[in-house]
Amino acid sequence: MSYTTTDGHGLFQSIELERQIRRLHSAVGNAVVDDKHVVFAAGSIQLINALVHALSPDADAASPPARVVATAPYYPTYRTQTKMFDGREYRWGGTTALWGNASRNSTDGFIEFVTSPNNPDAQLYKPVLGGSAAVIVDHAYYWPHFTHIPAPADEDVMMFTMSKPSGHAGSRFGWALIRDQDVAKRANKYVQDSIMGASRDTQLRMLGIVKVMLANLHGEEDIFAFGHGVMRTRWRRLNAVVSRSRRISLQKMAPAYCTYFKRIRDPSPAYAWVKCEREEDEDCHEAMLKAKINTRPGVLNEASSRYTRISLLKSDDDFEALMERVTDLVNAERYDA
Ligand code: PMP
Repeated sequence: MSYTTTDGHGLFQSIELERQIRRLHSAVGNAVVDDKHVVFAAGSIQLINALVHALSPDADAASPPARVVATAPYYPTYRTQTKMFDGREYRWGGTTALWGNASRNSTDGFIEFVTSPNNPDAQLYKPVLGGSAAVIVDHAYYWPHFTHIPAPADEDVMMFTMSKPSGHAGSRFGWALIRDQDVAKRANKYVQDSIMGASRDTQLRMLGIVKVMLANLHGEEDIFAFGHGVMRTRWRRLNAVVSRSRRISLQKMAPAYCTYFKRIRDPSPAYAWVKCEREEDEDCHEAMLKAKINTRPGVLNEASSRYTRISLLKSDDDFEALMERVTDLVNAERYDA
């Protein structure tokens, strides 16, 4: 297997895989692809810096470095990846709360990360800075098993990954949809310069997976109907237990119309964003750990330590163990009548 793909165009990106990914977006209705360039990478984690680099001024330009920001609670890798390369081109600028919006401050030279649906709290967020800020919208979870799809996403710079829709996180494959040709070229060059293009083995495997997903859409083996069924049941069961608790609460999510299923669908988030309500549970992550429940502390998302994230993406066995422990925690609560 050589550096180039089997398409014979001397490219590091399979033209056929790109075509199938475009078909998948169009068939699912979760992104507008016709006026976008597609850039592959080794997971969407690699795209974080590829896109920040592509949207930043040149290292030798006279302008100051771009400021990369996100709204709390945000996916912490935006901070860790950006800080790793902090320098002449760009630096981590903290949360959007520090910078206000365009009506109050200039947003020149800002790059805002928006995750929709968000990791950790599963809400569909929009950019907050406005003005001339560039925006990178991470749509890792914008698939019908995790959220309703109100309309195809059509932002200038979008990130997707195969880690979430099919669960092939270990294959390391992500892609960006980019409107502007120059931005796409710069992002592509970043991937070429760092890894000479996404693994060809992985691209081949992704081609098989995307084709199977496409062939079964709306059929008996529709991956989205299957995934929605599993995730909806998990969310419903967890809510039923937590609704009896005065100690912990979850984010509120409502049923909503989905253009993919063509009906109102129940929520089915990938993550539960847990809040500890009691004064003594100031460190919610620690409080959960005492009940043998593994969570990711909200402080990593620059949220209060009263919040912590439970992942609902796990095996059936692990989910059952989680349910047992949450049920024990809630049953142990005692209140005077
Ligand atoms: N973005 C978000 C919002 C995520 O939750 C994750 C994975 N946890 C990623 C990007 C990275 O995914 P990958 O590198 O596997 O594509």
